[in-house]
Amino acid sequence: MSDAIRIDALLKAATNRLESASDSPRLDAELLLARAIDMPRSYVFAHADEELDEQAVQRFNATLARRIAGEPMAYISGEKEFWSMQLMVSPATLVPRPDTEILVEQAIARVSRRAAMSVLDLGTGSGAIALAIARERPLSFVTATDISADALAIAVQNARQLDIANIEFVQGTWLEPVAGRRFDLIVSNPPYIAEDDPALAALTCEPRSALVSGPDGLDDIRLIATAALEVIAEDGVLLLEHGFEQAEAVAKILQLAGWSDVHCVKDLSGLPRVSSARRRT
Ligand code: GLN
Repeated sequence: MSDAIRIDALLKAATNRLESASDSPRLDAELLLARAIDMPRSYVFAHADEELDEQAVQRFNATLARRIAGEPMAYISGEKEFWSMQLMVSPATLVPRPDTEILVEQAIARVSRRAAMSVLDLGTGSGAIALAIARERPLSFVTATDISADALAIAVQNARQLDIANIEFVQGTWLEPVAGRRFDLIVSNPPYIAEDDPALAALTCEPRSALVSGPDGLDDIRLIATAALEVIAEDGVLLLEHGFEQAEAVAKILQLAGWSDVHCVKDLSGLPRVSSARRRT
Protein backbone atom coordinates (compact mmCIF):
# COMPACT_ATOMS: atom_id res chain seq x y z
CA MET A 1 0.00 0.00 0.00
CA SER A 2 1.41 3.34 -1.01
CA ASP A 3 0.56 5.17 2.20
CA ALA A 4 1.72 2.45 4.59
CA ILE A 5 4.15 3.97 7.08
CA ARG A 6 6.67 2.13 9.19
CA ILE A 7 6.60 2.56 12.95
CA ASP A 8 10.19 3.87 13.12
CA ALA A 9 9.58 6.50 10.44
CA LEU A 10 6.36 7.62 12.09
CA LEU A 11 8.04 7.90 15.49
CA LYS A 12 10.94 9.86 14.09
CA ALA A 13 8.70 12.40 12.37
CA ALA A 14 6.42 12.68 15.40
CA THR A 15 9.34 13.14 17.79
CA ASN A 16 10.54 16.09 15.71
CA ARG A 17 7.09 17.66 15.70
CA LEU A 18 6.80 17.25 19.48
CA GLU A 19 10.14 18.92 20.15
CA SER A 20 8.60 22.34 20.88
CA ALA A 21 5.61 21.07 22.91
CA SER A 22 7.20 18.45 25.14
CA ASP A 23 10.20 17.85 27.37
CA SER A 24 10.07 14.17 26.44
CA PRO A 25 9.16 14.11 22.73
CA ARG A 26 10.35 10.57 21.95
CA LEU A 27 8.64 9.07 24.99
CA ASP A 28 5.39 10.91 24.23
CA ALA A 29 5.50 9.76 20.60
CA GLU A 30 5.99 6.14 21.69
CA LEU A 31 3.19 6.32 24.24
CA LEU A 32 0.77 7.93 21.78
CA LEU A 33 1.59 5.37 19.10
CA ALA A 34 1.20 2.51 21.56
CA ARG A 35 -2.26 3.87 22.41
CA ALA A 36 -3.19 4.21 18.74
CA ILE A 37 -2.48 0.51 18.13
CA ASP A 38 -3.65 -0.59 21.58
CA MET A 39 -0.34 -2.22 22.46
CA PRO A 40 2.16 -1.70 25.29
CA ARG A 41 4.97 0.77 24.68
CA SER A 42 7.50 -2.06 24.50
CA TYR A 43 5.75 -3.28 21.33
CA VAL A 44 6.53 -0.15 19.33
CA PHE A 45 10.28 -0.40 19.71
CA ALA A 46 10.34 -4.16 19.25
CA HIS A 47 8.48 -3.73 15.93
CA ALA A 48 10.21 -0.70 14.40
CA ASP A 49 9.85 -2.02 10.85
CA GLU A 50 6.17 -2.89 11.07
CA GLU A 51 3.88 -1.02 8.70
CA LEU A 52 0.77 0.56 10.12
CA ASP A 53 -2.64 0.71 8.52
CA GLU A 54 -4.26 4.00 7.71
CA GLN A 55 -6.72 3.93 10.61
CA ALA A 56 -3.91 3.47 13.12
CA VAL A 57 -1.99 6.36 11.58
CA GLN A 58 -5.09 8.54 11.73
CA ARG A 59 -5.71 7.68 15.38
CA PHE A 60 -2.09 8.47 16.12
CA ASN A 61 -2.16 11.78 14.23
CA ALA A 62 -5.28 12.88 16.09
CA THR A 63 -3.70 12.49 19.53
CA LEU A 64 -0.37 13.81 18.26
CA ALA A 65 -2.08 17.03 17.19
CA ARG A 66 -3.59 17.43 20.69
CA ARG A 67 -0.19 16.94 22.29
CA ILE A 68 1.48 19.39 19.90
CA ALA A 69 -1.22 21.91 20.81
CA GLY A 70 -0.05 21.63 24.41
CA GLU A 71 -2.54 19.22 25.97
CA PRO A 72 -0.94 17.20 28.80
CA MET A 73 -0.35 13.50 28.12
CA ALA A 74 -2.51 12.76 31.16
CA TYR A 75 -5.60 14.32 29.54
CA ILE A 76 -5.02 12.41 26.31
CA SER A 77 -4.63 9.09 28.10
CA GLY A 78 -7.17 10.00 30.81
CA GLU A 79 -4.86 8.82 33.54
CA LYS A 80 -1.83 9.72 35.62
CA GLU A 81 0.23 7.74 38.10
CA PHE A 82 0.58 9.27 41.54
CA TRP A 83 1.91 7.58 44.69
CA SER A 84 1.91 4.28 42.75
CA MET A 85 -1.81 4.64 42.06
CA GLN A 86 -3.17 4.77 38.52
CA LEU A 87 -5.58 7.70 38.76
CA MET A 88 -8.23 8.80 36.34
CA VAL A 89 -7.95 12.51 35.47
CA SER A 90 -9.96 14.88 33.29
CA PRO A 91 -9.81 18.55 32.29
CA ALA A 92 -11.91 19.17 35.44
CA THR A 93 -8.96 18.10 37.59
CA LEU A 94 -5.39 19.30 37.87
CA VAL A 95 -2.91 16.67 36.70
CA PRO A 96 -1.23 15.39 39.89
CA ARG A 97 2.43 16.46 40.06
CA PRO A 98 5.32 14.37 41.41
CA ASP A 99 6.23 17.32 43.68
CA THR A 100 2.95 16.87 45.52
CA GLU A 101 4.11 13.46 46.77
CA ILE A 102 6.09 15.39 49.40
CA LEU A 103 2.78 16.64 50.80
CA VAL A 104 1.55 13.04 51.02
CA GLU A 105 4.79 11.99 52.71
CA GLN A 106 4.44 14.76 55.29
CA ALA A 107 0.78 13.89 55.84
CA ILE A 108 1.18 10.16 56.44
CA ALA A 109 4.08 10.83 58.81
CA ARG A 110 1.50 12.62 60.99
CA VAL A 111 -1.33 10.09 60.80
CA SER A 112 -1.24 7.18 63.22
CA ARG A 113 -1.19 3.60 61.92
CA ARG A 114 -3.04 2.49 65.06
CA ALA A 115 -5.62 5.15 65.87
CA ALA A 116 -8.61 6.45 63.95
CA MET A 117 -7.61 9.98 62.98
CA SER A 118 -9.71 12.34 60.91
CA VAL A 119 -8.10 13.98 57.88
CA LEU A 120 -9.43 16.76 55.65
CA ASP A 121 -8.18 17.40 52.08
CA LEU A 122 -9.29 20.74 50.63
CA GLY A 123 -9.64 21.03 46.84
CA THR A 124 -9.07 17.34 46.22
CA GLY A 125 -9.38 17.40 42.41
CA SER A 126 -8.76 13.84 41.18
CA GLY A 127 -8.50 12.79 44.84
CA ALA A 128 -4.76 12.10 44.55
CA ILE A 129 -3.66 13.34 47.98
CA ALA A 130 -6.73 12.15 49.88
CA LEU A 131 -6.64 8.67 48.33
CA ALA A 132 -2.92 8.25 49.00
CA ILE A 133 -3.42 9.12 52.69
CA ALA A 134 -6.51 6.93 53.02
CA ARG A 135 -4.69 4.00 51.42
CA GLU A 136 -1.54 4.38 53.52
CA ARG A 137 -3.53 4.77 56.76
CA PRO A 138 -6.56 2.46 56.60
CA LEU A 139 -7.66 3.31 60.16
CA SER A 140 -7.92 6.99 59.33
CA PHE A 141 -10.98 8.56 57.78
CA VAL A 142 -10.42 11.14 55.06
CA THR A 143 -12.91 13.83 54.06
CA ALA A 144 -12.13 15.38 50.69
CA THR A 145 -13.80 18.54 49.41
CA ASP A 146 -13.88 20.29 46.08
CA ILE A 147 -15.93 23.08 44.56
CA SER A 148 -16.20 21.18 41.28
CA ALA A 149 -18.79 18.42 40.96
CA ASP A 150 -17.03 17.21 37.82
CA ALA A 151 -13.74 16.84 39.70
CA LEU A 152 -15.46 15.01 42.56
CA ALA A 153 -17.06 12.58 40.10
CA ILE A 154 -13.55 11.64 38.96
CA ALA A 155 -12.31 11.37 42.56
CA VAL A 156 -15.23 9.09 43.49
CA GLN A 157 -14.45 6.82 40.54
CA ASN A 158 -10.80 6.70 41.58
CA ALA A 159 -11.77 5.66 45.11
CA ARG A 160 -14.00 2.91 43.70
CA GLN A 161 -11.40 1.72 41.23
CA LEU A 162 -8.75 1.52 43.96
CA ASP A 163 -11.22 -0.01 46.43
CA ILE A 164 -10.55 2.68 49.03
CA ALA A 165 -13.51 3.02 51.40
CA ASN A 166 -12.23 5.10 54.35
CA ILE A 167 -12.93 8.30 52.46
CA GLU A 168 -15.86 10.62 51.71
CA PHE A 169 -16.23 13.36 49.13
CA VAL A 170 -18.21 16.54 49.74
CA GLN A 171 -18.83 19.42 47.41
CA GLY A 172 -18.39 23.05 48.39
CA THR A 173 -16.07 26.02 48.70
CA TRP A 174 -13.01 25.25 50.82
CA LEU A 175 -14.16 24.61 54.41
CA GLU A 176 -17.80 25.58 53.94
CA PRO A 177 -19.06 21.96 53.62
CA VAL A 178 -17.33 20.81 56.83
CA ALA A 179 -18.34 23.66 59.16
CA GLY A 180 -18.77 22.52 62.76
CA ARG A 181 -16.63 19.39 62.37
CA ARG A 182 -13.15 18.61 63.77
CA PHE A 183 -10.08 17.22 62.00
CA ASP A 184 -6.73 16.04 63.33
CA LEU A 185 -4.96 16.87 60.09
CA ILE A 186 -5.86 19.27 57.28
CA VAL A 187 -4.01 19.14 53.96
CA SER A 188 -4.35 21.09 50.75
CA ASN A 189 -2.69 21.70 47.42
CA PRO A 190 -4.64 24.89 46.68
CA PRO A 191 -4.20 27.14 43.66
CA TYR A 192 -1.15 29.30 44.35
CA ILE A 193 0.01 30.84 41.08
CA ALA A 194 -0.16 34.64 40.73
CA GLU A 195 -2.63 35.74 38.06
CA ASP A 196 0.06 37.46 35.95
CA ASP A 197 2.63 34.63 36.22
CA PRO A 198 4.09 33.90 32.75
CA ALA A 199 4.23 30.19 33.68
CA LEU A 200 0.46 30.12 33.14
CA ALA A 201 1.03 30.32 29.39
CA ALA A 202 2.09 26.66 29.49
CA LEU A 203 -0.84 25.56 31.67
CA THR A 204 -3.80 26.47 29.48
CA CYS A 205 -5.49 23.04 29.57
CA GLU A 206 -5.85 22.68 33.31
CA PRO A 207 -8.65 24.37 35.29
CA ARG A 208 -7.64 27.95 36.05
CA SER A 209 -9.47 27.71 39.37
CA ALA A 210 -7.03 24.96 40.43
CA LEU A 211 -3.97 27.04 39.52
CA VAL A 212 -4.53 30.78 39.98
CA SER A 213 -5.21 32.59 43.23
CA GLY A 214 -5.29 36.37 42.97
CA PRO A 215 -2.56 38.95 42.37
CA ASP A 216 0.11 37.23 44.50
CA GLY A 217 -1.18 33.66 44.28
CA LEU A 218 -1.94 33.61 47.99
CA ASP A 219 -5.64 34.51 48.19
CA ASP A 220 -6.78 30.94 48.84
CA ILE A 221 -3.93 30.17 51.24
CA ARG A 222 -4.94 33.27 53.28
CA LEU A 223 -8.53 32.07 53.31
CA ILE A 224 -7.62 28.50 54.31
CA ALA A 225 -5.16 29.63 56.99
CA THR A 226 -7.96 31.46 58.79
CA ALA A 227 -10.88 29.13 58.13
CA ALA A 228 -8.95 25.93 58.97
CA LEU A 229 -8.52 27.12 62.56
CA GLU A 230 -12.28 26.71 63.01
CA VAL A 231 -12.20 22.97 62.31
CA ILE A 232 -8.73 21.88 63.42
CA ALA A 233 -8.50 19.73 66.54
CA GLU A 234 -6.32 20.80 69.43
CA ASP A 235 -2.70 20.03 68.50
CA GLY A 236 -3.91 19.33 64.96
CA VAL A 237 -1.68 20.08 61.99
CA LEU A 238 -2.22 22.00 58.74
CA LEU A 239 -0.10 21.13 55.68
CA LEU A 240 -0.15 23.41 52.64
CA GLU A 241 1.59 23.08 49.31
CA HIS A 242 2.73 26.39 47.83
CA GLY A 243 5.10 27.93 45.29
CA PHE A 244 8.83 27.64 45.90
CA GLU A 245 9.13 31.41 46.37
CA GLN A 246 6.18 31.66 48.74
CA ALA A 247 7.58 29.96 51.87
CA GLU A 248 8.21 33.20 53.77
CA ALA A 249 4.90 34.77 52.81
CA VAL A 250 3.03 31.59 53.76
CA ALA A 251 4.86 31.42 57.12
CA LYS A 252 3.79 35.00 57.84
CA ILE A 253 0.18 34.27 56.89
CA LEU A 254 0.07 31.20 59.13
CA GLN A 255 1.66 32.95 62.11
CA LEU A 256 -0.61 35.99 61.81
CA ALA A 257 -3.65 33.74 61.64
CA GLY A 258 -2.60 32.17 64.97
CA TRP A 259 -0.84 28.94 63.99
CA SER A 260 2.30 27.77 65.82
CA ASP A 261 5.38 25.68 64.92
CA VAL A 262 5.49 26.83 61.29
CA HIS A 263 7.99 24.86 59.17
CA CYS A 264 8.67 24.42 55.48
CA VAL A 265 9.98 21.29 53.74
CA LYS A 266 11.50 20.96 50.28
CA ASP A 267 10.18 19.02 47.31
CA LEU A 268 11.96 16.41 45.18
CA SER A 269 13.72 19.19 43.26
CA GLY A 270 15.05 20.68 46.51
CA LEU A 271 12.66 23.66 46.46
CA PRO A 272 10.59 24.87 49.44
CA ARG A 273 7.15 23.41 48.72
CA VAL A 274 5.11 22.36 51.77
CA SER A 275 4.56 24.33 54.97
CA SER A 276 3.23 22.85 58.18
CA ALA A 277 1.68 24.52 61.20
CA ARG A 278 0.18 23.32 64.46
CA ARG A 279 -2.73 24.62 66.46
CA ARG A 280 -1.62 25.15 70.02
CA THR A 281 -3.99 26.27 72.73
N1 GLN B 1 2.63 23.09 41.04
C1 GLN B 1 1.73 23.47 40.00
C2 GLN B 1 2.48 24.12 38.86
O1 GLN B 1 3.27 24.98 39.08
C3 GLN B 1 0.68 24.41 40.51
C4 GLN B 1 -0.32 23.69 41.30
C5 GLN B 1 -1.13 24.59 42.13
O2 GLN B 1 -1.32 25.79 41.87
N2 GLN B 1 -1.62 24.05 43.18
O3 GLN B 1 2.28 23.73 37.74
